[in-house]
Amino acid sequence: MTRVRFAVHRTVGEARLLAGLLEAAGLSVEVRGESLAPLSGEIPSTETWVELWLWPSDVEAARQLLAELEENREAAGREVSCPRCREENPGNFELCWNCGVDLPSALRPRLRAVP
Ligand SMILES: [Zn+2]
Repeated sequence: MTRVRFAVHRTVGEARLLAGLLEAAGLSVEVRGESLAPLSGEIPSTETWVELWLWPSDVEAARQLLAELEENREAAGREVSCPRCREENPGNFELCWNCGVDLPSALRPRLRAVP
């Protein structure tokens, strides 16, 4: 079985962040191209590229994680009305800050539990 290229990033930091998230979710990630960046002083960091390679069987899970991540980001920018007290809460809150009731539309960020 060979790995497939899942994503290409312009910066090492970005790629490492995503690789860390995927690995925390139990996926096996191979980062390629990373060593090209810091070793050469002649190449500005903006000109580098870093690729993440996954096993084909992990690609679907990785896509779902990314979609979830994106949803959480969007949710954080939305306001959610509390069903009990009608206070506005940030969309990524799990509980109403005012009365503590569960917010039904809140997304539980599953990526948070990184040891
Ligand atoms: Zn409330």
